[in-house]
Amino acid sequence: MRTVLKFGGTSVASAEALERVTRIVGGVKGDRVVVVSATAGTTDRLHEAAAAAAGGDGEEAQRIVDELAASHETLLRTVAPTQADETSADLAELAARTAALLRSVAILRECTARTRDAVLAYGELASAPIVAATLRRSGVDARPAAATAFVVTDEAFGSAAPLFAETYAAAREWLQPLVKAGTVPVVTGFIGATSDGVTTTLGRGASDYTAAILAAALGAGECRIYTDVSGVMSADPRMVEGARPLGRLSYAEAAELSYFGAKVLHPRAVLPAIEAGIPVRILNTFEPEDAGTTITAQGVPDGSVVKATTSLGGLSLVTVQGAGMSGVPGFAAKVFDTTAAEGVSVLMISQASSENSICLVVPADTADRLKAALERMLAKDLAHHDVERVIVERPIAVVAAVGEGMRGTPGVAARIFGALGKAKVNVIAIAQGSSELNVSLCVAERDQAKAVRAIHEEFERERA
Ligand code: ADP
Ligand code: ASP
Ligand code: MG
Repeated sequence: MRTVLKFGGTSVASAEALERVTRIVGGVKGDRVVVVSATAGTTDRLHEAAAAAAGGDGEEAQRIVDELAASHETLLRTVAPTQADETSADLAELAARTAALLRSVAILRECTARTRDAVLAYGELASAPIVAATLRRSGVDARPAAATAFVVTDEAFGSAAPLFAETYAAAREWLQPLVKAGTVPVVTGFIGATSDGVTTTLGRGASDYTAAILAAALGAGECRIYTDVSGVMSADPRMVEGARPLGRLSYAEAAELSYFGAKVLHPRAVLPAIEAGIPVRILNTFEPEDAGTTITAQGVPDGSVVKATTSLGGLSLVTVQGAGMSGVPGFAAKVFDTTAAEGVSVLMISQASSENSICLVVPADTADRLKAALERMLAKDLAHHDVERVIVERPIAVVAAVGEGMRGTPGVAARIFGALGKAKVNVIAIAQGSSELNVSLCVAERDQAKAVRAIHEEFERERA
């Protein structure tokens, strides 16, 4: 069997973690392909470096690169002292290239999305050779592989979409011969390149996506995502003390959870695996014997109604309000044309049955722009008072209760509202997906954690 194993940021950030990675990779039989993230915190620091440089502070950007380069070098010397020299030279060159890019950014005082991607790529381009050197030291024939050579994407820098046919063909051509020769490729997650060879990134957290893409391309029997928790849990463990790992999830449930903030999995990650029928397992690098979560096309009913509760903060609610909107065909279309034209992603929509208002939940930093665009688009309706006003409320959070067991189970919304009422959380808007496997609610951001805990407790109690 062929196995794709992806290791996240904390799993590759320390000598102790890399020791565990070595044991895990060494213990897997058959062909192996490893995908790695940048070491924990690196991508955030690179974002900061790009921002500092764009603001003209080239020195701060240089300091960040120096700090990252030093920590990579220290890690390499600790985990693979005998292999350090050749890899070390490669790492130094990467750091120098990134520093040069940032110097240009500081001179221009502008960092385009394209340049930022080239800067961010440094994180994964540096971690892959370190992981490969660690594996070689323990006798595994491993070598780093930059995904820019075979993950082919469009030009949407910052969240590029892979071109699947090209990527699958190139990944096979590149990786099959290595794998067949018994080598373990250690592939950089998160990054790709356009067909012209310009570096792109697939969006934050997207190393999971790289793993699923490669699993599909190479016909893997299993895609394992190793992280720092024992699977997808019934709630964010940092927010809810009693959160517990979920043994099984359907693809649809996993997609809903990651979409609504379960950071453990990248929202798009599951798709390539769904289509290829490959099970995805979320496992803990630090507790590799734990069962973790297995995600398959069809879920296995476990008797639960709500399986997990997630949340996403940093949002705004944009409401278009007015009595003259009821019964006017095409009104919602106008609103959505505007969000599309502005490139604003809408996380949740809700419309009262009176049709007096349409509420859109959007990322907070896009709300003012969307309000202005809606006011332009609806200028006539506003002048005629068919639309009274466009309001922005913030900060807002969306809380989502997810589970296949909700389908056809009456009274779920009532229980959610009851639990929130008892916790004194005011619900601003509510939406239910037509798939009936999620109920999402909009609350003030200050109530986010309280709302998650209240819903989680309501549905966990019945399991006890
Ligand atoms: P990695 O670097 O391994 O990809 P991430 O930080 O991206 O790890 O994702 C793992 C983290 O996701 C966990 O440490 C946990 O704090 C957070 N998390 C949020 N919601 C959940 C959830 N429902 N289940 C598990 N982890 C969650
Ligand atoms: N390093 C990237 C990030 O922090 C990708 C990943 O970790 O999956 O977003
Ligand atoms: Mg992640």
